[in-house]
Amino acid sequence: MTDTTPMVRGVDLHKTFGRTAALRGASLEVAPGEIVAVTGPSGSGKSTLLHCLAGVIAPDSGSVTYRDRRLDSLSADARTRLRRLEVGLVLQFGQLVPELTAVENVALPLLLEKRSRSEAQAAALEELERLGVADVADARPGEMSGGEAQRVAIARALVTSPSVVYADEPTGALDTVAGEQALAALVAATRGAGAALVVVTHDHRVAAVADREVEMRDGLTEPVEALR
Ligand code: ADP
Ligand code: MG
Repeated sequence: MTDTTPMVRGVDLHKTFGRTAALRGASLEVAPGEIVAVTGPSGSGKSTLLHCLAGVIAPDSGSVTYRDRRLDSLSADARTRLRRLEVGLVLQFGQLVPELTAVENVALPLLLEKRSRSEAQAAALEELERLGVADVADARPGEMSGGEAQRVAIARALVTSPSVVYADEPTGALDTVAGEQALAALVAATRGAGAALVVVTHDHRVAAVADREVEMRDGLTEPVEALR
């Protein structure tokens, strides 16, 4: 039989910041290898949903499960490891360490997992090649274009072979052409790695390449079909 266990499952997530209810019962299931686009107006809770799913923040209530592991049942160490090894994060901009070169930035997650320097370096170079930015391997973020830096950030998110990649408006800070290239690289690389991808975006072209689109409104998730 086919395995129908979702890769990630967030159920009835609530999160309040002060008096702002950012999530009011949002749910999202992601199948292995699935690409889900999350759209919706600014302030509707998209980033908060991603952060809860990624284990960056804890929801006030509701559950997040990776296959059969509930995040809140794991020890802090186990949660950190799951996040490092199974989750890739790509943010809008500015997540690379400015003092490090591209290859050093991409090698970082592997070094944190105690892989040898040479092994980490080789894997990082390979990932940069896959993203088409091997030529900036020895450059620091300040010496790259925005699009190059974003593809380096994608390489860093993918270098640990995560099961799921979360990208929060990954092309938001780029011009159209650079944004399209970075996005195509992100989709191709996640598909190539067999990873699932949850991508928050205002760009309907992104939604068009996704397997499924979910729209957020006022802290709730709704499948797009239901809105039309
Ligand atoms: P989106 O990504 O869709 O723009 P967010 O998830 O960032 O929405 O935010 C949802 C709501 O929660 C907004 O009203 C935002 O101001 C608020 N919010 C998000 N994070 C915080 C925080 N750390 N502190 C206070 N309010 C927050
Ligand atoms: Mg956001």
